[in-house]
Amino acid sequence: HFEKVGFIGLGNMGSKMANNLIKAGYNVAVHDINLSVIKMFSDKGVTIKGSPMEVAEISDVVITMLPSPSHVLNVYTGPNGLLNGGNRVNPWLFIDSSTIDPQTTRKISSAVSSCALNEKRDPWVKPVMLDAPVSGGVPAAEAGTLTFMVGGPEEAYKAAKQLFSSMGKNTIYCGGAGTGSAAKICNNLAMAVSMLGVSEAFVLGQSLGITATTLTKIFNSSSARCWSSDTYNPVPGVMDGVPSSRNYDGGFASTLMAKDLNLASTSAKEIGLNCPLTSEAKDIFTKLCDEGHGKKDFSCVFRHFYSGKDE
Ligand code: NAD
Repeated sequence: HFEKVGFIGLGNMGSKMANNLIKAGYNVAVHDINLSVIKMFSDKGVTIKGSPMEVAEISDVVITMLPSPSHVLNVYTGPNGLLNGGNRVNPWLFIDSSTIDPQTTRKISSAVSSCALNEKRDPWVKPVMLDAPVSGGVPAAEAGTLTFMVGGPEEAYKAAKQLFSSMGKNTIYCGGAGTGSAAKICNNLAMAVSMLGVSEAFVLGQSLGITATTLTKIFNSSSARCWSSDTYNPVPGVMDGVPSSRNYDGGFASTLMAKDLNLASTSAKEIGLNCPLTSEAKDIFTKLCDEGHGKKDFSCVFRHFYSGKDE
C-alpha cells in the first residue's frame, strides 16, 4: 500500500514521470541537487526535501531516475542516502528507473534487503527493490506511455503495477534483481548494432549504385528488415517524421547511446564474456560524441561516421 511517493532525479525524464504521479493523485515529495528544477516543483506546491534520507523518512515508496550507476549508488548508500547508513528505513519499496548496469543494481538491491523497516511500521519486514528502467524517451515520459522492464521480487512487481501504469503504458516483468537493467542495456545494444549494420549497408549500397530509397524497399520486404530500416531509417529523405529527416535533431542522443553501450561493455567484461560488436559499437558512438555530435540522434552515425560529412 502506498500513497506517499518520494521521487529523486527530476531531469528530462524524472520531472515528467513525477508530474504524472502527481496527476494520478499520489502524494509526492521530491529531491534533486539542481535547484532550478526544484524551484519548478516548489512553485507548484510539491513537497521538497533536502536529501534522499529526508525523502525516505516520509515515503512509502521511493523512485530514483538518475544519470548513471555512481549517482544511484551515491543516492542509496552515500551520506544522507536513502538507506541511511544501512539500518532501518521507512519505505517498504525502492524503485530505480535509471539505466544502469545489472551488477550495480544487484549490489544496491542486496543493500536494500539487508535493512529492516522502521519499528513504527513493521520491524520484521524487509524492504525490497525493483529495477525498472524505461524505454520511450522524453515524449513518452511526458505522455505517460513509457515501457517499464522490471526486475526484482514478483510480489513487489505486482504491488507496484498501478504505480507503473500512472507513468507508462506497458510493464514487463523480467525476473529477479538486475534483470530489468539487463533487459534495457541488451535492448539498446541490439538497437545500436542494427543501426550500424543498416547504415553500413546503405553506404555500401549507395556506393555500388543503388539508391537508399530502393534499398530500403528491398530490406523492408526481405530478411534485413528491422526497426532501423522500417521505422527509424537513418538516411535523410527516405522517411518522414524521423530524426534523419530533420538534421538528426530530437530523438535519442548519441551521448546516451554511448553511455548505454559503455554499461553493456562493462557488464560483459565483468563476467568475462567476449562481445566484439559491443566494443566496436561503443567505440564508434564514443568517437561520434568526441567529434561533437553527442547531442544529435544516434542515427546520425550514418552521416558522420560513414560519410564524414559535416553539415
Ligand atoms: P537528466 O540528466 O536529465 O536528469 C538526471 C537528474 O538527476 C538531474 O536533474 C540531476 O540534477 C539529478 N541528479 C544527479 N545526481 C543527483 C544526486 N546525487 N541527487 C539528486 N539528484 C541528482 O537525465 P534523464 O535524461 O532524465 O535520464 C535519467 C535516466 O534515464 C538515465 O539513466 C538515462 O540513461 C535514462 N533514460 C533516458 C532516456 C532519455 O531519452 N532521456 C530514455 C530512457 C532512459
